[in-house]
Amino acid sequence: MNTNKILSVGAHADDIEIEVGGTLLKYRDAGYAVVYVMATNNMSGGVSELLSDGTVRTTHEGTLAMMARRKRECDEAARSLGTAPIHLDHPQRHYWDEALGKEVELRYGCPLPPGVPANVPSILTAYEDPPSVERLAQIILDNDPECVFTHSVSAMNVEHFATARLATAAFWRAVDKGFRGALLYWREGHTRLGEFNCRWETFVDYTRYLDRKMALIGLHRCQMPKAHLPTFGHRLLALRWGQACGCRAAECFTWVRHADYRDDQGLVYPPLTLELVQNTK
Ligand SMILES: [Zn+2]
Repeated sequence: MNTNKILSVGAHADDIEIEVGGTLLKYRDAGYAVVYVMATNNMSGGVSELLSDGTVRTTHEGTLAMMARRKRECDEAARSLGTAPIHLDHPQRHYWDEALGKEVELRYGCPLPPGVPANVPSILTAYEDPPSVERLAQIILDNDPECVFTHSVSAMNVEHFATARLATAAFWRAVDKGFRGALLYWREGHTRLGEFNCRWETFVDYTRYLDRKMALIGLHRCQMPKAHLPTFGHRLLALRWGQACGCRAAECFTWVRHADYRDDQGLVYPPLTLELVQNTK
C-alpha cells in the first residue's frame, strides 16, 4: 500500500475540488500524491459567467465544445494538485442539442451525440458493466493508494450516486485482488435527503486551506463563477461543517472500509489515516 497516495473519483469536473479539495491540498503539502479520476465525459451542463451587475448568465454549447471546455478546466485544477486527470469518459445522461436548442436525454436506441463512442456505457449503468468496473479496479490496484474517496450512495444527483456505485464496485473488485487501502464516501451538502445526509463519521480539518480550496474550485470557471466571493455557497458550507466538527473548515466522510493494516505498516498510522481515525466519532 502506498501510504502517501490518495485516489479520488468524481462524477463531474469540479466535484473532487468541492468535496475533497481541502483534504487533497492539505495532504499534498504533507507529501501525498493525488490520483484524480473523472468518471463522466462532462458533455452536459451550461456555461455560467458572472456579469458586472452581479448576476450570472448561463449559455449552452454542444457536446464537443462543452467536453473540451470542462476538460481544460479540469486539467488546470488537477495540475494545481500536482497531477493530471484520468478520464473514464462515461457519457452523462443528457446533453445540449445545438440543432434543437434544448437539453436532450440519452435514451435506448437514440443517436449518439457528437464525440460519444458507442462502446462506453453511460455513467448510470457503468457500475454493472464488468469491463468498466475492471478498468477502474485496475487503476486502484496500479496506484495502490492509502485512501479512496468518492461520492456517497446517498448523493442526490443521480450521476454522483452512479459514480459512487461504480467506484464501490471497483473498490471491492480491487479488494478481491489484494487491495488493502480504505474507501470513504464524502458528505455532500444541499440535498433533500434530510437527516440521512447529515450523518458523518469522520472529517479532515482543512482550516488553513480554506481560501486555497475556494481558489481551486474557482478554476472551474464555467460552473463556479462566484467562487471568489465571501458569500460563495461552498465557502459557507465549509464553515458549517467546520462548526459541526469543532474547527473552522472541514470535509466530512463516512467509512466504507478502513484500511487493512498489517505488520508491514508497523504501529504508526500514516498522517491522513491518523487524522481520519482520530476524528472518527
Ligand atoms: Zn457533480
